[in-house]
Amino acid sequence: MKYHLIIFGCQFNISDSQRVAGVVQKMGYEKTADINQADLIIVLACSVRQTAIDRIHGLKHRFNRLKKKRPVITVLSGCVLDSDLEKMSETFDLIYKSEDLPKLPELIRKIDKKIKPSGSLGNYFDIHPQYDSTFQAYVPIITGCNNFCAYCVVPYTRGREKSRPAEQILKECRELIRRGYKEITLIGQNVNSYRDKNITFASLLKKVDEISGEYWLSFATSHPKDLSEDLLRVMSKAKHLMPYLHLPVQAGDDEILRAMNRRYTAKHYLALIAKARGAVKNLAVSTDAIVGFPNESVLQFNNTAKLFKKVDYDMAYLAQYSPRAGTKAAMLADNVSIKEKRRREFLLNNILKKSAHKNNQKMVGQVWPVLVHSYKAGYCYGRTKNNKNIKFASSMDYTGKFVRVKVTDCYAWGLSGELPKILVITGTTASGKTKLAVRLARKFKGEIISADSRQVYKGMDIGTGKDLKEYGKIPYHLIDVADPKKVFTVVDWQKMAYEKINEILERGRLPIICGGSGLYVSSLVHGYQFTEATKDQRAELKKLESLTTSQLLQKLKKIDEPTYLIIDKNNRRRIIRALIIYFQTGKSKSEQLAKIKPPYDFLQLGITFEREILKQRIKKRLIDRLEKEGLVAEIKRLHKNGVSYKRLEEFGLEYRYIGRYLQGKIIYDELVLQLNSAIADFAKRQMTWFKKDFTIDWVKDFGEAEKKIKSFLG
Ligand code: SF4
Repeated sequence: MKYHLIIFGCQFNISDSQRVAGVVQKMGYEKTADINQADLIIVLACSVRQTAIDRIHGLKHRFNRLKKKRPVITVLSGCVLDSDLEKMSETFDLIYKSEDLPKLPELIRKIDKKIKPSGSLGNYFDIHPQYDSTFQAYVPIITGCNNFCAYCVVPYTRGREKSRPAEQILKECRELIRRGYKEITLIGQNVNSYRDKNITFASLLKKVDEISGEYWLSFATSHPKDLSEDLLRVMSKAKHLMPYLHLPVQAGDDEILRAMNRRYTAKHYLALIAKARGAVKNLAVSTDAIVGFPNESVLQFNNTAKLFKKVDYDMAYLAQYSPRAGTKAAMLADNVSIKEKRRREFLLNNILKKSAHKNNQKMVGQVWPVLVHSYKAGYCYGRTKNNKNIKFASSMDYTGKFVRVKVTDCYAWGLSGELPKILVITGTTASGKTKLAVRLARKFKGEIISADSRQVYKGMDIGTGKDLKEYGKIPYHLIDVADPKKVFTVVDWQKMAYEKINEILERGRLPIICGGSGLYVSSLVHGYQFTEATKDQRAELKKLESLTTSQLLQKLKKIDEPTYLIIDKNNRRRIIRALIIYFQTGKSKSEQLAKIKPPYDFLQLGITFEREILKQRIKKRLIDRLEKEGLVAEIKRLHKNGVSYKRLEEFGLEYRYIGRYLQGKIIYDELVLQLNSAIADFAKRQMTWFKKDFTIDWVKDFGEAEKKIKSFLG
């Protein structure tokens, strides 16, 4: 058994359709996009405009043709006016009110006796929806409306306001966020009227916003007469709320607003917009407006046009008035000609186009969070956090994911952009990376994120080459962020690095990743998908150094056979490194090949010296550190402050050998010799790692780097 849904109108019908799908799927129906295959066709009607009603009447012939071929049950729900019911019943086998959805199985059973009885479904809100999207969801919080705006059918078709229990709403939101949904819209005909005992809409919004997770929150629709100071306060502090407000004005003339029974003035509306913009940074505002309401004079329409100019809307949904039977306005003469209504709509649309374009222009050059909705022919399509359409070229499909996008161009109805550019400066130890990165940061307005696995630790300065004076006024990040007594992994670093990148982009500056820890740089540039290591795995990590090479190999064979088969079995350090990846990340080295390209455009520049020159630089630097800069004293201090010799051993190089020297295991001359050769070996291993990454572009000096960066930044 298959069902097919036809949805007219707004997000309420979309939300209804997801609950309808929940009910009929429970009855055993499967969804089909092909109406010819359907045994059950459900139409959700919209009575706001006559065109939708005419299209529903137009379905009659199609249904008749289908019914000649096979038995089909046709059902109508949504917004249906009583006055349309008689005619609609000629087209449909069954018509039910939205709130009667739980009775739908029984109603269908009366027509098709083969349908098995369903258990009790509770009330409308108890029904579990079948969301259409895996990342966006509408969550109804209130149905119906008590406002009786003169032109509107909703109070007649959807009934009076009925708020959903707050606990049920919170449960649905928590579940969606747990399942990874990225955008939640709380919907109701007038969300501002929400009330569950002492919970108002403002307090409900605050409670939803307090659910932790990575998601955006929005709401629709608000009535200007009910938008409270409390709500504005919550909006100003909410963490997840989209800076977007849909506030229907309908008209900008007080007399017309009165005739529409809107119960606010243009002045009140403008004051609300000003307050909302004051409360929420970069707020985008949209509206609904009706032109040609009965008796609307040219002067009165001009007041709406003036209001449009004052508000500078980002978007507006414009409608030419048409009477809806049963409403108060339908009793008035529809006395503005079609031609004049068209002219007024055209004028408003022109004002809107200009304001939307002007607002969009302000976003050019800025980096915005974007939720990607679809991917087609090398382009991602999505919406910015303030609800603007945006398109950008991408080799990856990021549908359902948040990305940052730099806005490069704009139109009235949308934006185009590109993935943000990130510079990476990498290379061996003693290659002068930091010096180069600092010069480049000065030139290209950058901020530096250190990619050095040991510079993250506080108090480890001389041994890690952490010369903070070198940075001057250039902001730097991920230095001194961890306690050397505790383990800080590549997973911790990657998470913090992505956060820092986004913060720097939001400041409009160029993120520059600088460091020689190959695993750290690669984890970022190639998007390693880490899972957190378990406690047991972390404990194993500490034991690795004490194992023999053959014990290490046995371990690797068990954990990661593909890597075991190809690894140099005499290279103890490489074996340990492969194991470290597993014990730090919870995934083996070979599994790391499952990468997801991060949503940034990277330029990786590498810097190094000829092998012999590098060796000399390493030696000179070591002697300086030992004899002029106080490296031994630094490590003594670390040990005094509680960093054990075992922990110093884990840090490797300077910390390992000086630790051994301080314990009397080696004499000073042995220390210099062994450490110098260990650093040279380390530089060699670094080069081996980097050489495998063909995306690194090697440069000799600042001039060459500058040229490449200029062409990269465009
Ligand atoms: S507030 Fe007015 S326009 Fe909105 S649903 Fe209620 S009656 Fe209709």
